[in-house]
This record gives sequence, C-alpha cells and structure tokens, in this order.
Amino acid sequence: MADQLILALDIGGTKVAAGLVRPDGTLLADAREPTRVAGGPDVVIDQLVALGRTVAGNRTPTVIGVGCGGPLDARRGIVQQPLNLPGWFDVPLVGRLEAAFGLPAYLDNDANAAALGEHRWGAGRGTRNMVYLTVSTGIGGGVIADGRLLWGETGNAAELGHVSVAYDGWPCVCGRRGCPEALASGTNIAARARAALAAGEPSSLSQLTEDAITAERVTEAVRQGDALATRIWDETTAVLGNAVANVLNTFEPEVLVIGGGVSRAGDLLFEPVRNLALQLALPPQRHARIVPAELGDQTGVLGAAAVAIDRQETREPVEAA
Ligand SMILES: [Zn+2]
Repeated sequence: MADQLILALDIGGTKVAAGLVRPDGTLLADAREPTRVAGGPDVVIDQLVALGRTVAGNRTPTVIGVGCGGPLDARRGIVQQPLNLPGWFDVPLVGRLEAAFGLPAYLDNDANAAALGEHRWGAGRGTRNMVYLTVSTGIGGGVIADGRLLWGETGNAAELGHVSVAYDGWPCVCGRRGCPEALASGTNIAARARAALAAGEPSSLSQLTEDAITAERVTEAVRQGDALATRIWDETTAVLGNAVANVLNTFEPEVLVIGGGVSRAGDLLFEPVRNLALQLALPPQRHARIVPAELGDQTGVLGAAAVAIDRQETREPVEAA
C-alpha cells in the first residue's frame, strides 16, 4: 500500500476534478474544469480520462478512486441516475475507467467519499464512529460505524437529507414531507428567501436581483440583523438541529462533521445546531463533538482517493460491470 499512487477522480454537475494522491493523503497534483454536462456520459468520461492523464503526467498511478453524485451502485461500479448529471442512466463508470487506464477502479457516492476523506485525513481522524453531513445544494451523509463505512446493500445508505423531521411538514422532491434537504439545503434556503420577498416581506435582500439571492447572501443579511433572513436562518438551524439529533440517536458518533457550502457560515450555523442537537438527543448521545469539515476545496479529490484505499483494505473483491 505504501508504494501506491492513487488517481482520484471527482465528478460533479458543475465541475470535474482529478488528483494524484499518496496513501498518506499528500496531494501531488490536481486539476479541475467545468463539467461538459450537456455532452452526456461519453463526453464527461472522455473529459475525466484526459484530466486524469494530465495530473498523472509521467508518473504511473496504481489504482483509481472515484466519487460521483448518486444514486449509484458502488458494489457494481454503476452510476444509476444522478440528478446533477442529466442523460446518465446505468453508466458502467468503473468498467469504462478500468478499460481506459488499465487499472483497478473503485466508485462511491460523493458524500460517502467525503466521509472517508474526513475520517482518514480530516476532522474525523482517529475516531471509530463518525458521521459526515454535507449541507450544500442538497443534504447528504456518510457514516463510519465501528471503524467502517456503512454502505447498505448497494452503497446508498445514509441519505440523511431525507430522514424526515416533520411527517406533515413541507414537501420534498422525494415524495415525502419534512425532509431536511427540502428546507435547509443551500438551494432551498435561497428559494425560501426569494419566496418571502415575492410575498412582499420587507428585507435588505430586496435590493438584490433574484439570481443574486443565495444562501451565502442570506447569512450575510443575518449578520446585519435583517428580520426576514433571521427568520429563515432560525428555521434552517432548527431543522438541522433536529436532523443532527436524529443522527446522534441513530449512530452515537464520537464526532459529527458538517461540510458543504452552507457550513461556511461558521458559528452562525454551528452554535445553534450544536446547542439544539445536544439538547434533543438522548442523554447517552450528548457527548458528540459537532465540528466543521477540514478538507475544504480538496474534499472531492481526497475523498475519491480515500475510496480507493478503503475498498482495497476492507471490501471483498467485486465484479465490475
Ligand atoms: Zn426527501
């Protein structure tokens, strides 16, 4: 393992990234570019292969790790139908990459990959029980239970953004009500602010064009004491606090790591979420540390590298499609 060199590939709806990573997490080279998403899977896979060859340069990787938006079948290496990659349907990504590079490849969804990266090299280092929660355009999760990534049957476990906190609450695209993602994701924080402005609620945000209203702008307005933004933020942290309490009750982690764009709000997010979650969780679960992710912009690439290392260490050989 020590002489391995990992080619780490990260596929998102807005960017693709590649990195060359040592088993100790040292990033030797990396590159990223906008995803040619309109071209469909063939174009994006060609783009990924070219980017991988660029970062490898004259060095020879020994294994490939890939992170991609789900749903996907991690066991069989098939990307099923990610919302952020239109036109992808049952794409045998692992098989395609293994053919292109002549190397073994391992795939997992981006939240599981980030969880593995944070556990190996970030805020979850040295723990046996860790949960990673990403609050970004969506809300996703990855669980390390008793030292091992919790996969479920096909690797789609830990959809923490769709564990409802209100059975008769707000509707979600998944068909249920009260899902944390449908209220507290970055996308939905911004959408709720726009809806409140459209309903005529006064706010400093009304100076902005509709497109300029983002979760980040909402948090800035909260810091300036804006009433509309504060109401939306208080609802957001209440939902996230309840979601985190569910996670603590379910998995009893030593540390719960929150990453994703919305986590950049810092204490504005962490203080109320931590206070509420630790108050709502059952007494034996109240010891968890609730902390920010540490890998930042390198989450995608280091997470993909961690997928390759983890699978070689812990999983049975699987047949790629
Ligand atoms: Zn849902």
